[in-house]
Amino acid sequence: MAQGEVLIIGAGLAGLSCALQLQEKQIPFRILEASDGVGGRVRTDEHEGFLLDRGFQVLLTAYPECFQVLDYAALDFKPFSPGAMIRLSGAFHKFSDPHRNRADLIATLTAPIGSFRDKLRVNSLRSRLRRTSEDEILSATRHTTNFLLKSEGFSPRMIDRFFRPFMGGIMLDSSLMPSSRMFEYVFKMMAEGDTVVPAKGMGEIPKQLAARLPEGSIQLNARVATLGDREVTLESGEVISGSAIVMACEGPEASRLAPELVPAQRWRGATCLYYAASAPPIEGPWLVLNGNNQWPINNLAVMSEVAPAYAPDGRALVSITVLGKPTQSDEEIQLAVLAQLQRWFGREAREWRYLKAYRIFHAQPDVIPVPPVERPSQLGPHLFVAGDHRLMPSINFAMVSGRQAAEAVMASLMPEAVAVQPA
Ligand SMILES: Cc1cc2nc3c(=O)[nH]c(=O)nc-3n(C[C@H](O)[C@H](O)[C@H](O)COP(=O)(O)OP(=O)(O)OC[C@H]3O[C@@H](n4cnc5c(N)ncnc54)[C@H](O)[C@@H]3O)c2cc1C
Repeated sequence: MAQGEVLIIGAGLAGLSCALQLQEKQIPFRILEASDGVGGRVRTDEHEGFLLDRGFQVLLTAYPECFQVLDYAALDFKPFSPGAMIRLSGAFHKFSDPHRNRADLIATLTAPIGSFRDKLRVNSLRSRLRRTSEDEILSATRHTTNFLLKSEGFSPRMIDRFFRPFMGGIMLDSSLMPSSRMFEYVFKMMAEGDTVVPAKGMGEIPKQLAARLPEGSIQLNARVATLGDREVTLESGEVISGSAIVMACEGPEASRLAPELVPAQRWRGATCLYYAASAPPIEGPWLVLNGNNQWPINNLAVMSEVAPAYAPDGRALVSITVLGKPTQSDEEIQLAVLAQLQRWFGREAREWRYLKAYRIFHAQPDVIPVPPVERPSQLGPHLFVAGDHRLMPSINFAMVSGRQAAEAVMASLMPEAVAVQPA
């Protein structure tokens, strides 16, 4: 086996998952992380007693890789209500999963979101996807989500009022142009499990993975400036040599480090704004979708109704997502959000205290899902790559890509050991 550590660039979920796999096979590694903490795009800040995820995110408990790797019980998941609440024509309407929430069945059937047939079609789509395997979904003919929804027979009203903001909330893209595979995958996961956040914030997920790694194996504030053959140079000028390099940084950074090997991709952006309210404006753990599709708010959640630790006692934390990469200043976005909040909740919204906004330029890769074979983890004799941009944007696929990169490293560094490994 080659001497030295495997150098993993990035302590996001992909980098951490890669490290865990290497650790299992007793392959020495070191993670070099540019920022001051682990988690990459999945981090939670404590701010005046509130827990602010760096961008509204959820975990779907049916994600297979997450289920395999994470200790769900320790994360103490808090679930959202199955379904969503839709803001439409001056009112909020519950649009629930009748299989899991009988109490809201009548409200769901009478909600002016789509026709009765649309609602039956949601049910058939759900049943079909539950019967379809993950592999079948990921290798199915690729269409746009819009094409798929139309061929399933959904009315334009249903598509605009539900699926558009729903896809905006999950994939940060309400154009419905992303791949039907991604849509089907997410819809299946939602039908088969819960939509949750850990009790103490999304950042607990990468923290749990990092806690399993040996002390000192993650070097923070260590931005890699350039790559060499089996060595990296940090911004500080320090040169570190290793047995192999795994780029587990975001796609644009991987393209900067190895431009000829990782082509640039388009990325979706999002802005997440947080407000403190004296009482929850929506009761219950609902994901609220803007069925009118009017800028700026795409979705909203009262996070403290989902997981009480997100806000101090007697306060409510409201999370709002604005899609895209708006050219307006933070103040202009805040004013537009506040105007819409007042139309939704009346004058009480004026009393809410603005806490913080996160503008995320590279939130999710605008990637068309392809079978992994088309995006190999190995780019050169000693260079490997991981990250959601290799597969599909999600916590699950970031972790899958990390594992796959580790497997490729192991196959390259110790082929004989991989070949004789028991199943
Ligand atoms: C607003 C938002 C909402 C989302 N919603 C969901 C959701 O609801 N459900 C879901 O499953 N997924 C969601 N996602 C996607 C999910 O968060 C990502 O797919 C996943 O976290 C990507 O992990 P990663 O390890 O590939 O990359 P990252 O998390 O980006 O990690 C890359 C790491 O590399 C580090 N790095 C970069 N450059 C260097 C360098 N030169 N040297 C050293 N380190 C470097 C970075 O600091 C970072 O820590 C969302 C993402 C965002 C931003």
